[in-house]
Amino acid sequence: RRLIMRSQSSTVINDDDDDGFIIQGVPHLTDFLPDLPSYPNPLKKSQAYAIVKNTFVSPKDLVAENNIIQKGSPRGVHFMRAGPREKVYFLPEKVRACIVTCGGLCPGINTVIREIVCGLSNMYSVDDVLGIQGGYRGFYSHNTVHLTPKVVNDIHKRGGTFLQTSRGGHDTKKIVDNIQDRGINQVYIIGGDGTHKGAAAIYKEVESRGLQVSVVGIPKTIDNDIAVIDKSFGFDTAVEEAQRAINAAHVEAECVENGVGIVKLMGRYSGFIAMFATLANGDVDCCLIPESPFYLEGQGGLFEYIEQRLKENGHVLIVLAEGAGQEYIAQSMKAGNGTDASGNRLLSDVGLWLTQKVKDHFTNVRKMTINLKYIDPTYMIRAIPSNAYDNIYCTLLAQSAVHGTMAGFTGFTVGPVNSRFAYIPINRVTETQNIVKLTDRMWARLLASTNQPSFLGKPEYLQGKFDKETMDIINRMQITSI
Ligand code: ATP
Ligand code: MG
Repeated sequence: RRLIMRSQSSTVINDDDDDGFIIQGVPHLTDFLPDLPSYPNPLKKSQAYAIVKNTFVSPKDLVAENNIIQKGSPRGVHFMRAGPREKVYFLPEKVRACIVTCGGLCPGINTVIREIVCGLSNMYSVDDVLGIQGGYRGFYSHNTVHLTPKVVNDIHKRGGTFLQTSRGGHDTKKIVDNIQDRGINQVYIIGGDGTHKGAAAIYKEVESRGLQVSVVGIPKTIDNDIAVIDKSFGFDTAVEEAQRAINAAHVEAECVENGVGIVKLMGRYSGFIAMFATLANGDVDCCLIPESPFYLEGQGGLFEYIEQRLKENGHVLIVLAEGAGQEYIAQSMKAGNGTDASGNRLLSDVGLWLTQKVKDHFTNVRKMTINLKYIDPTYMIRAIPSNAYDNIYCTLLAQSAVHGTMAGFTGFTVGPVNSRFAYIPINRVTETQNIVKLTDRMWARLLASTNQPSFLGKPEYLQGKFDKETMDIINRMQITSI
């Protein structure tokens, strides 16, 4: 079998066999520094790994992207398994690492910072770690802080990021000049899709200057919208914390006549938090996400469903993702066309919009008295420390990143693929976003749980909102109820 371990320009490279076995490897420093010396990995002598049976991950160990395959079908894409390698390409005493955090807040960032520092120190005896403050622009506009296991000892108990963060300010040349000036040779970059585009640019610049600098991204997004990986850190904590807001809205709604509770959760382009928080809760009557268009008026619309639930149950509880229904809001409010410092589209507040629409409809059109309570817990959720599950997950992410950079890999990101940690080419996580696919099972499970309308009964509302394949399925369905 011919293994092709590089995939920078194209993400899909087939090997010679006809079994469709594809390997998407990550770059290595020796790709552009062929004479770089290597050293035996010191881990074998460390207390932590002394008794581990297979201390080092074999280069032949691969992680399959698809774990459900049919006999005889193409084997599909595989990634390199994360973990320590037999050889390292840095002498520990020569390592000067740095950590930077960019983009929005998310529970678990501090745990990742802490575990990179502790992982470098405890596993590889690397003690020179710098914290870059305030996101990408911190490389050239702020002083660094020296990070030791003692300094970061209890930061995982706190929310936010110990290093502060920002949007915008990515200047590749200035950043790489600074990396060179400070003698940094390992760069750990924690952030979302935008941050990873920046990390890829830094890696390219480092390569073109021929520097012995490893660049690794650690994917951070509370929305769980990063492609390839199973789940992003902080997502689990967010779903759990969202329960408090949903439960509060439920209590408010059920204790009054015609109570309507509306909770807005994070999810700009993908509704995973809203979907999982709804599935976890059990009291939610309707979940609205960006991927599933909905409409308010007429048969099968949201107003009809709200009225039905009020008649049946006396109250109704709605959870919606911030990116849901943006197209209708843009039509009615002519808003939502600005961008933030990183170039992300600013969204209009769908929660306030829906609240007003529901009030207007029931008060003016239906002449009904409703009691509506709207809760937006976004910032309260983003700011909490990560839960136990996410802390473990962040620790594994950080240790995987440390093993990868010590082994000389660069221009890569880390994450679990089918629950195995893998090294993934950066472009795989920047070129597409993970969204809720209505044609997959999870959304059907949610509809089956809430019993809400699917809003697919009026195909004229759906034109242009889905790819052709999904639209064909919808057109063939002739849905009457859900
Ligand atoms: P999240 O969306 O989860 O908050 P993010 O990483 O996507 O995280 P952004 O604010 O979009 O957050 O980007 C973070 C940083 O990455 C910013 O400093 C921004 O300048 C930089 N960045 C964004 N897009 C690019 C790009 N295409 N090239 C280089 N740098 C970029
Ligand atoms: Mg982003």
